[in-house]
Amino acid sequence: MKTTDFTTCNVCDNPGTLETAKEVEEIYSDRRKFSDRKFTVWRCSSCGSLHSKEAVNLDEYYQGYLGNQRLDYFLSCMYYTRLKLLSKYGFRKSSTLLDYGCNQGLFLSFLRERGYKNVFGYDAYIPKYADETVLSKKYDFVVSYQVIEHVEEPRHFFRQAASCLEQGGILVIETPNATDISLSGIDEGPLDKKRLLHQPYHRHTLSQQALLGLGLSQGLSVVPSSSRIEYDTLFPGVNNRAISTYFQLAGDVHDVIEEPFQIKTFLTSPQLWFYCFFGYFFPVKGYMRVIFQNLSES
Ligand SMILES: [Zn+2]
Repeated sequence: MKTTDFTTCNVCDNPGTLETAKEVEEIYSDRRKFSDRKFTVWRCSSCGSLHSKEAVNLDEYYQGYLGNQRLDYFLSCMYYTRLKLLSKYGFRKSSTLLDYGCNQGLFLSFLRERGYKNVFGYDAYIPKYADETVLSKKYDFVVSYQVIEHVEEPRHFFRQAASCLEQGGILVIETPNATDISLSGIDEGPLDKKRLLHQPYHRHTLSQQALLGLGLSQGLSVVPSSSRIEYDTLFPGVNNRAISTYFQLAGDVHDVIEEPFQIKTFLTSPQLWFYCFFGYFFPVKGYMRVIFQNLSES
């Protein structure tokens, strides 16, 4: 799918434009294959969301994307944390769940192995999960982890996700937070803007204000929750600080997710050992998780 040039914010009611943007920066792609290509990212002066300008052929970029992921130690710890959080909000073995943007469906497999049978996935780029009929049904839980930033029309995506909620249903959205990403200047900490903006894959990176606004526009209520995202845990090595530090040492590209674990990199960095065990206590900004609930009467 070929996109078009993007110059007017599509997530807020008083849209800013590229022309009036105070922050505009050219960002190199963080994938090895495309690391010589750069993309214009600009911030909406109204809602603070970040947008990728240039038209791109997404089919080219998504070829083989995240195709090698397995349910390894890291993902198992993440999914365990996800499940624990969902359980806190009432997720039971009898509950229905839609994983919107499920990629290879690994989280669904994790849940099914533990006796959660009513779980479904949708992902437009994965033939096994591209059947849109799952989007016409209602679920107790709709979850979407690191997906909304990839879509062309976040409002449409959010509306569709919200429309799949049963009355009382819970919607979990986890995504980078534009408010925490500085376009101009040097980023502090291990999460640099190149990786958070993940060009050209992240088409629109929402500010928290914009994401809350999308919930409000669909009549959803915000449920208070911890801001710790699913891979910021107390499991050894599975925290945002350690993962970010490892990424930096291992090449600072997105491809690291799919590549074999670099034992030598690990063994030669005392800083990384330290963060593996204590990184949870050194939180890193850059992502947000917002939980919404459909409390409407009808
Ligand atoms: Zn905006």
